[in-house]
Amino acid sequence: MKLCRYNDNRIGLVRGRDVHDITGILDALPPLRYPVPFGDHLIAHLDQLRGRMEELAGKAAPQPIDKMKFLSPVANPSKIIGTPANYHAHVAEARADAEIAVYSAGKQRTIEEQGLFLKASSSLIGPSEGVAIKFPDRRTDHEAELGVVIGRKTGFVSEADALSVVAGYAIALDMVVRGKEDRSFRKSPDTYAVLGPWLVTADELGDPGALDFSLTINGEVRQAANTREMIINVPRQISWASSVYTLYPGDIIMSGTCQGVSPVKPGDVMALKFERIGEMNVPVR
Ligand code: MN
Repeated sequence: MKLCRYNDNRIGLVRGRDVHDITGILDALPPLRYPVPFGDHLIAHLDQLRGRMEELAGKAAPQPIDKMKFLSPVANPSKIIGTPANYHAHVAEARADAEIAVYSAGKQRTIEEQGLFLKASSSLIGPSEGVAIKFPDRRTDHEAELGVVIGRKTGFVSEADALSVVAGYAIALDMVVRGKEDRSFRKSPDTYAVLGPWLVTADELGDPGALDFSLTINGEVRQAANTREMIINVPRQISWASSVYTLYPGDIIMSGTCQGVSPVKPGDVMALKFERIGEMNVPVR
């Protein structure tokens, strides 16, 4: 199943090249009362509402996806977790990049040494909203990544069981300003986390460790790799993250980027493609 949020907060299922409006499903969610629990209310109830969602989609007229403005398929993640330096070829390019090397003082540490990092939840957008450059005089880079969306409250899950807590997957962009500040500062301006165009449920996607993906800007391929090239695979990332943080429904893990990160400028359009998920265009302004 492909679940999306689009236009003015409509909820839809994507089938082929069409969206079917299932916004009525929100009436089936239990009412919330203060204090609201951490996490995304819809993702938390995805399993129990799936049958009803398919029914509603069957009754809704198809509308072409080309006409839709896609928002982040997750509205309220409690956190966005980032995995740094997770592709060897990207680690090598970061080491060779004079500007990045200056900021890391020539010391590219391993993932285990760096630990996971967090991006502000308020930085999250969908592809239609576009990335707004925060510091026009500085270098902002794109990082195309597989986005992993957690489906239920989880602590200390083993690697063997880790994929069972995943609700689904989406294309993610971990935007970053280069500089000396703390990573959370440089990766958390508004619009610097993109998720879309929809969530492909875990059962439909299958193995997250064998997906071709690419990022093209104005027709030029900048990033292209396969998720099997990850240094730390998705189950290990989830297990590790869950040993540090309680994971909540809707939490997003941005699983690291491959080689080819490069600067963007206003007017660029980043075109991302992920096997078994789909494609999305993200304008820069
Ligand atoms: Mn990243």
